[in-house]
Amino acid sequence: MPTDDTNRPGVKILTAHALPVAEVLKALDSTEAGLSATQAAQHLADHGPNRLPASKARNPILRFLAHFHNTLIYVLIAAACVTAMLEHWVDTGVIVAVVVANALIGFIQEGRAEQAMAAIRDMLAPRSAVLRDGKRTSLDAAELVPGDVVLLEAGDRVPADLRVLQARGLKAEEAILTGESVPVDKTEAAVAPDAAIGDRGGMLFSGTLIAAGTARGVVTATGRDTEIGRISGLLGSVETLTTPLVAQMDRFARWLTLFVLIVAASVLAYGYYVGQMAFADLFMAIVGLSVAAIPEGLPAVLTITLAVGVQAMARRNAIVRRLPAIETLGAVSVICSDKTGTLTRNEMMVAALATAGGTYLVEGEGYAPTGVLRWNGAEADLHDHPVLHDFARAAALCNDATLHPTDADWRVEGDPMEGALLALAGKITGADTPATAGMTRIDAIPFDAAHRYMATLHADAAGARTIHVKGAPEAVLALCADQRGSDGTPEPLDPDHWTAMVETLAAEGQRVIAVALRAAAPDQDRLDASELTESLTLIGLIGLIDPPRPEAIVAVAECHAAGIRVKMITGDHAATARAIGRLIGLQNGDTVLTGAEIDRLDDAALAEAAVTTDIFARTSPANKLRLVTALQARGLTVAMTGDGVNDAPALKRADAGIAMGLKGSEAAKEAAELVLADDNFASIAAAVREGRTVYDNIKKVISWTLPTNAGEALTIILALFAGMALPITAVQILWVNLATAVTLGLALAFEPSEPGTMRRPPRPRHAPLLTGALVWQLVLVSTLFVVAVFGVFLYATQAGHPVALAQTMAMNTLVVLEIFYLFYVRNMHGTSLTLTGVRGTPTVWACVIGVTLAQCAVTYLPPMQAIFGTQAVPLVDGLLILAVGVVFFALIEVEKQMRLVLRDSAV
Ligand code: ADP
Ligand code: MG
Repeated sequence: MPTDDTNRPGVKILTAHALPVAEVLKALDSTEAGLSATQAAQHLADHGPNRLPASKARNPILRFLAHFHNTLIYVLIAAACVTAMLEHWVDTGVIVAVVVANALIGFIQEGRAEQAMAAIRDMLAPRSAVLRDGKRTSLDAAELVPGDVVLLEAGDRVPADLRVLQARGLKAEEAILTGESVPVDKTEAAVAPDAAIGDRGGMLFSGTLIAAGTARGVVTATGRDTEIGRISGLLGSVETLTTPLVAQMDRFARWLTLFVLIVAASVLAYGYYVGQMAFADLFMAIVGLSVAAIPEGLPAVLTITLAVGVQAMARRNAIVRRLPAIETLGAVSVICSDKTGTLTRNEMMVAALATAGGTYLVEGEGYAPTGVLRWNGAEADLHDHPVLHDFARAAALCNDATLHPTDADWRVEGDPMEGALLALAGKITGADTPATAGMTRIDAIPFDAAHRYMATLHADAAGARTIHVKGAPEAVLALCADQRGSDGTPEPLDPDHWTAMVETLAAEGQRVIAVALRAAAPDQDRLDASELTESLTLIGLIGLIDPPRPEAIVAVAECHAAGIRVKMITGDHAATARAIGRLIGLQNGDTVLTGAEIDRLDDAALAEAAVTTDIFARTSPANKLRLVTALQARGLTVAMTGDGVNDAPALKRADAGIAMGLKGSEAAKEAAELVLADDNFASIAAAVREGRTVYDNIKKVISWTLPTNAGEALTIILALFAGMALPITAVQILWVNLATAVTLGLALAFEPSEPGTMRRPPRPRHAPLLTGALVWQLVLVSTLFVVAVFGVFLYATQAGHPVALAQTMAMNTLVVLEIFYLFYVRNMHGTSLTLTGVRGTPTVWACVIGVTLAQCAVTYLPPMQAIFGTQAVPLVDGLLILAVGVVFFALIEVEKQMRLVLRDSAV
């Protein structure tokens, strides 16, 4: 009874490891075939979802207050106190407003960035293979309940605490529970009731990793009741939103703050002692100077830029697991991609069967188990072709997938290739007499990319036992002693015939597998790899088509245009790989390097070969690791895809490890920086584009912020040293900082990709941020700012305007220049004077309109005039200010064109 309290998993977990499997099942009200859907629903209502409570969000008030912990804010608070003591209440008010607004902006931006990351975490929610109503289904792991029977294989993360019902070469890595990183063996055996967690060989614990083998287990505890739930009770901690570049800018901003403060103190001392200026005015000028020069908003804006990038990638099915990957992706110069499912559709269909006597062509549509087999053009009948029955049995028995009819067509649960084999079996035997009828599986050796075959041991109704094997032809041929002759009796193996057949099928791009069988002793109940050697009878070959993804072909071409080399790394046969490579449009489509050849090369030779070759076939996960290392040795930035548990080392080693979201193992996902929600190569290209865009935008934010800050600060310093009236007053500088930081400063974080983003070569791996060009831009732009602001101020005073009006005009000039400069920075890599460049984006225009309204308010609204000491600017002078902006824009655009011309001709 689920409501009976002794049946709660929290009680059960204390003894499950010590009980025989049958008793555990009984106690959980379950069977080897799992729960029914109604039972599961009941248990879910009783026990709640299989989820650990999320770590408590930080208190919002504390989060808000944390934004006051910042050198600049301390300086400003001190300044507010000083101005208050001097009874300059307006100044105090403005400073306090700046402080609060700053914290508020940081707080809101941080919240949005965290939301973006949380949404992405939800996209990575793990799924589990479960038996419900006796059928294998895939569920969100949160829906698991005690009593569910779960199927696990190497690379899976254990979704709940399980009592092992059946184990096959099972090893689990339990470091998160026991601290022991060496995988431990797991079996069905019960252990002593007082065994420690690490010694409970019959249990699998939630959160641990299956390192090898396969398992079937019954859930004994979920969520909070699991061992890991008891220990931590919380989900993993939140990842901080930073990348090396942003962290670098953070450090830079802190040193810059110190630098500015020293300059400010020196200017204060100079002005007071040498310039003999009044302390109160001087002090406010220094505060304005500090606020102008310190890029206080920069770290927050960069964080937003990252969050925007993470979201853009997620929309393109690329889920960022580790933020630094965003930057790395933009620098990728080589992409090493899987073939099956990434470059191809992974929608398999059997197209041909090759036997000792000849070849059958298979017709059909998708995974529907209906279709005709043709022998010499005529429809083949099962009675005349008994070999087909052997194919059907091998295909259906040596198989872990299931086919489900849907409204429109058939869907595979499990490996698509195995789905195609089930469809083949259906085409041969018809739906009423399945090849599996009366057969029970006794044991199996799961497929593994290292040995490349799968074997099963079955008993029929009469008790006779048979071994079936399917796998890569080389692997299976090595296990065969003879072949099935045309008359059904075994005859000597003819390796040359089969090798030629493999080449023929593979040259058409087909994936080829071989199937074989042998009888086993009636008492055999274990399969062992060692007893298969040279004992099987080969039935024949199966050729499967798996067409390339059209969007992958486009994406490969896009990568080539972007200076990125695409390499295909596959476990498939060389000829299959070559045929697909041609269809996909790889650069070097003829040369194929196989895993065996890679093994023979030393590191230096491999580095050479790895660069020129684009197709690698029959590779092992160990080959992948060596390839990444070899390419990196040549200074390339490598992105590498992977799905299996053995791919984890190569994914970790790659600059950007990319795991498959659909067919990838949990182990691969956790080793990767990026997870593809749709397993599609096109999503990698999209991620690279977004990576480049984010890097560009970070650079744009910096290129906009630093010169505008420098320009504002220089204006004040120059005026102080010249001993003249400030062209812009201190409160006005504070205002400009406040108004532009929330608008213009933020606009660049949302910039879309520039048109040429994927036509540029990748940026060198360690390209410095502070290039000569950026330094030059900083100097040029800040100088032009100073010249323009002083120019307008001097013009206004000479035209007889009062100082307050001259200052208002100078302040507006500053803002106009910043707007024009924004449009310049938007198109760093090309001209801004295109229609799209001028048209901008909704974000940019919202910011421009926002800041314009704010400037009009501060210039023309009487209360604001009272606070900021401004005066209404006459129309003619307003036009003059605009004209200055246009001239400024023309100057820097022409200068950019000169540089672009020189850069291009240098290539
Ligand atoms: P890929 O790089 O194309 O994903 P895999 O490493 O998955 O290649 O497979 C390599 C070879 O192993 C395949 O060409 C096929 O011959 C064989 N193979 C793949 N999956 C299975 C399976 N489930 N059972 C038996 N053999 C398989
Ligand atoms: Mg594969």
